[in-house]
Amino acid sequence: MMYPNWLSQRAYLNGNRMALSFEDQQWTFAELNGIALEYAGKLAAAGVTKNSRVAFLSKSHPEFVMLMYACMHAGCEMVMLNERLSKVELAYQLDDSKADLVLVDDALKDKIDSPLEMLFSELQKIEGIAFTPEAEWNPERTISIMYTSGTTGSPKGVRQTAENHFSSSVSSALNIGIAPDDVWLCTVPLFHISGFSILMRSLVYGMGVRLHPKFDAEQCAYELQSGLVTHMSVVGVTLERILSTLKELDLEVSPRFKVMLAGGGPIPPNYIHRAGSYGMSVLQTYGMTETSSQTTTLQPDDADRKVGSSGKPLFLYQVRIEGSQNPGDIGEIHIRGPQVTPGYIGKFAGREVQQDGWLHTGDMGYLDDEGFLYVVDRRSDLIVSGGENIYPAEIEKVLLEHPSVREAGVCGTQHDQWGEVPVAFVVLQDDVEKQELVEFCQTRLASYKVPKWIRKVDSLPRNASNKLLRRELKTWD
Ligand code: AMP
Ligand code: MG
Ligand code: MG
Repeated sequence: MMYPNWLSQRAYLNGNRMALSFEDQQWTFAELNGIALEYAGKLAAAGVTKNSRVAFLSKSHPEFVMLMYACMHAGCEMVMLNERLSKVELAYQLDDSKADLVLVDDALKDKIDSPLEMLFSELQKIEGIAFTPEAEWNPERTISIMYTSGTTGSPKGVRQTAENHFSSSVSSALNIGIAPDDVWLCTVPLFHISGFSILMRSLVYGMGVRLHPKFDAEQCAYELQSGLVTHMSVVGVTLERILSTLKELDLEVSPRFKVMLAGGGPIPPNYIHRAGSYGMSVLQTYGMTETSSQTTTLQPDDADRKVGSSGKPLFLYQVRIEGSQNPGDIGEIHIRGPQVTPGYIGKFAGREVQQDGWLHTGDMGYLDDEGFLYVVDRRSDLIVSGGENIYPAEIEKVLLEHPSVREAGVCGTQHDQWGEVPVAFVVLQDDVEKQELVEFCQTRLASYKVPKWIRKVDSLPRNASNKLLRRELKTWD
């Protein structure tokens, strides 16, 4: 089986539909495709072929999208670099991926020092040569390579194939539903699967994307009011900031808006209720770079009954818990399906990502008696205290239930008697005595889970997708 070239096909089927909107500009699928083909001619002149690997370092703006689409026409593999990385980290990924060329957003030219680099503005000046895109794509072709964001050990370059992206998009649509005039608001990084998957859905569905250069709660609140957008991807903190801003500015959300897709970790029930009061559904999802986004999703109808759950697998996918005999047994989460990466590149190319056909995620979780998945934590974040396993997320969840707590992060710290004990960092909404928070935890948690101390901080360490970096918290104590 071969796919038709997604860009040509979409321009052919729905050329006049809005594909991309940014500030006060917008492009149809036909226009975007035309620009992508022109850039593909320039890439060809710069020596890029279907066997090349092209790395990108860019902020979120239309030029980045157009250049990525040009690479998809060219048939090369794209390595997505995270603009927040240090020079040393970038150098590691460039070396590991053996990229042939690095395309760099002019705004980021000081972030990188590589003989392979070419600025976007330099590429634009190149005279393009005649270029004919391939009419068909092999499903096994690698479209993108993303280094896992480093919530765990050393960065591994994950291959994401056309089939991975296609099945991810289709499965998501089977779950959420899709209409011809849907528009997805993208404020998450395009170099992460959270943002890139929005572009893939756009091509696969013929759906528009409203792109913001970065997450800004006030901009989002006005966007939700405007009625242009129907979907948005968030994590817990960004959802909370949007809800607070809607309230502060006394805004309504347009009835056209449908769904918040919320990933990265469990969403406190009060956020879901607050979102509900604006008519917004929050779909909690569990997914990762290795599964090209969503693997399981909780429907809003189940949110109250299944607090903390990430729901059930999407139709094409399967989830199992290693070693589990009964509902509720905690073990490593294994995933199977066409969205699972065939493997890594570079240093980890030899590492089998799937064992007996299943992806071993490194996340711990359980399935309840109705088959709902609960992700309890990363295996590496587990705190072992006096022989008891403590999952930081459980303690964070309790702290977040306190009305004065806006954000919470928990990690383990060395302890003479217990080996490790949990400690907490909180960002407050209103001031509160630390003792009150400790007592709050004492009434809700076993004593060994109560943080040994709690520190008030201005912000928590997060990656570019705003996910908590517990590994970094550990260095704060
Ligand atoms: P990334 O590959 O950077 O997108 O990170 C994926 C990781 O985020 C997963 O392996 C989980 O550890 C975590 N994660 C994603 N979704 C959830 C969720 N709903 N609940 C808990 N952890 C999650
Ligand atoms: Mg990961
Ligand atoms: Mg990661």
